[in-house]
Amino acid sequence: MSSERQIHVGSVPIGGGAPVAVQTMTKTETADLPATLAQISRVAEAGADLVRVAVPRERDAEALKTIVAESPIPVIADIHFNHTLAIKALRAGAHCVRLNPGNIGGPEKVAEVTAVATELGTPLRVGVNSGSLPEHLRELEFENPVEALVTAATETVELMERLDFRNFKVSMKSTSVPNTIASNRLLAERIPYPLHLGVTEAGTKWSGSLKSAVGLGTLLADGIGDTIRISLSTFHAEEEVKVAWEILKALKLRQRGPVLIACPTCGRLQFDMDSVVAEVERRLQAYDDPIEVSVLGCAVNGIGEARHADFGITGAKDAGMIYSKGKPIRKVETGKLVDRLFEEIDKYYERGKVVEFDEAAAAEAAEWLAANEDATAMTPERLAAMEKAAANGRSAEANGAPGPSARLDEAESPVAGRRFTRA
Ligand code: SF4
Repeated sequence: MSSERQIHVGSVPIGGGAPVAVQTMTKTETADLPATLAQISRVAEAGADLVRVAVPRERDAEALKTIVAESPIPVIADIHFNHTLAIKALRAGAHCVRLNPGNIGGPEKVAEVTAVATELGTPLRVGVNSGSLPEHLRELEFENPVEALVTAATETVELMERLDFRNFKVSMKSTSVPNTIASNRLLAERIPYPLHLGVTEAGTKWSGSLKSAVGLGTLLADGIGDTIRISLSTFHAEEEVKVAWEILKALKLRQRGPVLIACPTCGRLQFDMDSVVAEVERRLQAYDDPIEVSVLGCAVNGIGEARHADFGITGAKDAGMIYSKGKPIRKVETGKLVDRLFEEIDKYYERGKVVEFDEAAAAEAAEWLAANEDATAMTPERLAAMEKAAANGRSAEANGAPGPSARLDEAESPVAGRRFTRA
C-alpha cells in the first residue's frame, strides 16, 4: 500500500509504487561548501537517494546554488520559520523544500511559497512535529496525541489543496515510536500523498537505530512509507544511510550490496569469530552485488540455516570449511579462512558468477564436515524434515499404511535422549 500519488524530487520518484527512497541530512554548516559537499559525496556513496541541508541563514540559501550544481543526488532545503528563505531556496534550484506550514507565519506566507514552487515545478515536503502542534490542537494532544498529530497533518494537506498545490509529500514526526506507527497508519488511510517516515530525535547510533528499525520497519512492513530518514545523534550522516539500508534490506524492499549472515555463537565456538565476522563485513563493503555470505561458528549443525548462502565459512579450532549454496568447496586452516573465502568470491565473479568445485578439495571438505557435524543434533532443518515426514506418515496411516511418524516418535524425538541444538 504505497501512496496513490507520486512526486519527483529531482530524478527520484517518491510514492506511487516507487522504491522507498533513502534520505539523510547533512550535519555541516550548509554554507561551508567544502565540508557540506564532502559530506554529500559520502552519503551518496553510502547509498542516499536524496540529501537534505539546513537553510537557517541567507548565506545557506546562497550556498544552495553551488550545492545543487555539484551534488550527485537531489538536494532538499530544510526551512523553519522564514518563508522568504523557502522562496530563496526554491529560486536557488533546490529540488524540494521542506517546511512546516504551522511555523512559517500563516497561510498567506505558505501561499507565497506554493506560488513559486508551482512556477518552478518544485515539490514541497510539508508536515507537522509532535513538539509544535497548533494551539487549537493542544487539548486534543493531551487527550489523544495520535489523533492530534493526524488532525494537524490533514489540516496541512487541506491547506495545500485549498492553495491548489498537490506536488508534495507529508511527514508527521514524533519522538514516540508507538505514536509514529499509529499516526502514520491513520494518515495513510486518509490521504493519497506520499509519506516521509522518520522517528524524530531517535537517539544515539545504537538506540536510535533500534527505535527507527522498530517504528519504520513496522510501517514499511505494512506497505506504508515512501521515503525514510533515520535520525541519529552522530556527525557522520552516512551512518544514518547505512541503517536505512539495513532496514530496507531486512524487509527485502530494496537490495544494495552484500548480505552478511552470522550465527550468534555459543559455547561450541572454538575460534575468534568476532574478529572474523568484523573482517568479513569490512571486506564485503568493496562489493556492490547483493551476494549473501554466511559465517557459522561451528559445524555442529552442518551448514544448517546457511544452506542458501552464496558463500559461507564454518570454523573450528584448527580448521574450517568454505562452502557455496550448501556444498563444501574446500577445507582451510582457521587462520586463512577469510582470505580463502574472498579468493573464492573473487574467482566466482571472474568466472561470471560461477562456482567451480575441485572434486578432491570438495571431498576433503565434506569429510571434515562429516567429522565435525553432530548428525544427531536437532537442527531446525532436521526438525522441519521430521515434521514433514511425520505429517506424510500421518496421511499414509490414515490410508491404512504404517507411516514413519511412529518410528519418529520412538527413535528421533528429543525426549528420547537426542540433543536439541538451535543456532
Ligand atoms: S551451535 Fe550455532 S550458534 Fe553455536 S557456534 Fe555453532 S553455529 Fe554458532
